This record gives sequence, C-alpha cells and structure tokens, in this order.
Amino acid sequence: MFLNRLARGCLLQPNGATVSSSSSSGAAQRMIAAAVTAYRSCSSHAHGSSPHHPSHHHAQPAAGHQPDHAVSASATSSVAAAAAVSPAASQAAPQRASLHSSATADSAWESPLRQVLIRPRFQSPVAQSETKAESLFQKPVDLYTRLLDNNRQWAGQVSSVDPNYFPNLARGQQPPYMYIGCSDSRVPPDQLTQTMPGELFIHRNVANLVVNTDMNLMAVLQYAVEVLKVQHIIVMGHTECGGVRASMTSTPHGIIDEWLRNIKDVYRLHRQELEAISDMSARVNRLVELNVVEQVYNLYKTSVVQKSWAQGHRVQVHGWVCNISTGLIRDLQVERRPEWDEVGAIYQYRFDQESTPAVSTATAEEKANPLQSMLRSMRGNSDSE
Ligand SMILES: [Zn+2]
Repeated sequence: MFLNRLARGCLLQPNGATVSSSSSSGAAQRMIAAAVTAYRSCSSHAHGSSPHHPSHHHAQPAAGHQPDHAVSASATSSVAAAAAVSPAASQAAPQRASLHSSATADSAWESPLRQVLIRPRFQSPVAQSETKAESLFQKPVDLYTRLLDNNRQWAGQVSSVDPNYFPNLARGQQPPYMYIGCSDSRVPPDQLTQTMPGELFIHRNVANLVVNTDMNLMAVLQYAVEVLKVQHIIVMGHTECGGVRASMTSTPHGIIDEWLRNIKDVYRLHRQELEAISDMSARVNRLVELNVVEQVYNLYKTSVVQKSWAQGHRVQVHGWVCNISTGLIRDLQVERRPEWDEVGAIYQYRFDQESTPAVSTATAEEKANPLQSMLRSMRGNSDSE
C-alpha cells in the first residue's frame, strides 16, 4: 500500500493533509527501545564471543501498516560487530579500514547502532501528526517545528547508545561510495540502501544528470575521487521520474527546460526504440533507464574517473534504477553494454606520458587505457559472481 501510494506521488495532498491511514511511529519507538537495549546487552558480552544470530525479534507494526521497510530490532550482533562501525572503538582511519574490509563488512551491517541511526527517520512529521488526528493545514507550524523536535530526539537516542558517536563522526569522513541521484523526495539514498552517516557522499539534482559543465557536480566528483578516494560511484534514476516525463513533452517550463534538454538528447539517441513503446508510463520508465546509462557514460568521459585508474585508484562506476512501486533497486550493469566499446576510444585519455605519483600501483595498461581497464575489471567481477 505504502509503496503503491508512493509511486502515485500522492502521500501528501495539496493542503498538506496526508491520505495515509496509519502510522508506524509507535512501532518505531518500540524498535528503537529494543535496539538500544540490544546494544547495551551486547556491550556487556565478552569480546571473544563469536557472532551468533538466533531468530530476530521483529517489533509488531501498528495495525494495518505494511512494514515494507521494516528493520528488525535485532539483539543478535556481537560487540565486535558493533565496534566495527562504532567510532567509539576506533579512530577515523581504522574505522574507514573496517568499512572497506570484506572481513568485517557483514557484521558491520548488522550493528544495533545502525538500527538506531536509520530507523528513527521513519517517524515522519506527517505520520506523527496523523496519529494525533491533527490537521496539518490548520497547524502548519507543527509541520516545520517537528523536524527540529525529531532531530533532538534522534540525536539524543544515538548519543544514549554511543556517547562518542557524534564526536567521532566530527573527526572526518572517508565514505566508500559516491551517489548521484534525483532530487525526488521518494528516493532517499541512505534509507534505500540502509547506509549510515559517513558512508554515502551524495549529489542530487533533477533527473540525476551528469553534465560536464555543471561545476557543482564536477567539483563533488573530483573531491570524492581524488580526496575521499571513494571506491564506487553510483548513478541512480527512478521509475515515474517527473523530470524525465517533463522532458518528453513540448510544454515550456522556464529555466528548467535548459536542464531537461539533456534528457531530450538521450531521447534523440534512442528515438526509434522509445517510440515503439505505446504505453506512456512504460516509455517514461525506459527513458529513465537509458538516461542512467548515458549519465554513467558521461562519468566514463571525465578525466577525473580515467585518471584515477591511471594512478592506481580503481574506482568503479555503476548505473541503478529504483522502482518506486516496489522500493527495489536494480543494477543496470552498464559496464556490460556493448555500444560503449564502439565509441569509448573517442573519449579515452592516455596517461602513460604523464608523471604519476610514486605510490601509484597502476599498470602500464591502466595508464594507456584507463577506461578499458575499468570495464574489463568490472566485467570480470560480475562474471565471477
Ligand atoms: Zn526524478
């Protein structure tokens, strides 16, 4: 129900009242309390105990609420698992290492702290207001002040689990992922991927475009790759994208037309395929996919991405689409598409004549053919899966 309404874009009516009929705020509170208890209980265990995962305790959601996004308030993770992501147990650099290490990644994803950090955000001001049968239209100030109330409550809960969490977060960041997504409110990347503060470096704009004259995005990209050393760059589009749909009309919308024209260019490249799709919604969603593919190619074209390979920092670029009707993300496996092989040489730079850092581990092939090296590596990875 929730996701179906989300897909129709009708959670909020124009007067601010919600059409939803239930709330999970009570259940969310119980889950947070369970997670806090679990964390404290785990913290009293010996470090040497092996991770053990008995049945998870799912808090009962409010009647009538379908917990599509339910997170189990697990009391199962070991203290070692909590420490893997808890800055309390490590300085910024070791914490970074644990996030990047496959040896600790699985346990880190099950940390009770992660549940506390992510779960409270499901208590939306809209849902809270609904349980009190208030009219948001009559009390518009509540819609605003509740954001700050929520923040105080959330920060307090996190600090009660780990008093050092925020002080350690303030020391710095080295997120393993850069995310480029649409500004649409229905696709919050950290909730969709259950990532915590410090893990996603995020850039969002209308229809998740990578435009080479967009200094904002290009600055974010350079900082992410050259300074933060992200390992993966992800472009994510989503079904029912208003920006993509608007680009398929002849209606002028003002300044945004210049931005959306980039999507018209993608349409032009695939006009025959798109116009063979008679259902308009299906045509929009196909253009959403093709647009993501093109934006991944736009990242391939940048010297920032190519140079990273020539210097031995092997960043990978991915294209995703989120289906709003299911909440599920699909990897388009852009690296497997054959058409780039035909044109890739046009955009490829060679770095073998350049001086590279003494610490570079790049091979001669990576310096001469950085893009092909990336694609070969990514294709090899998915072959072995
Ligand atoms: Zn969108």
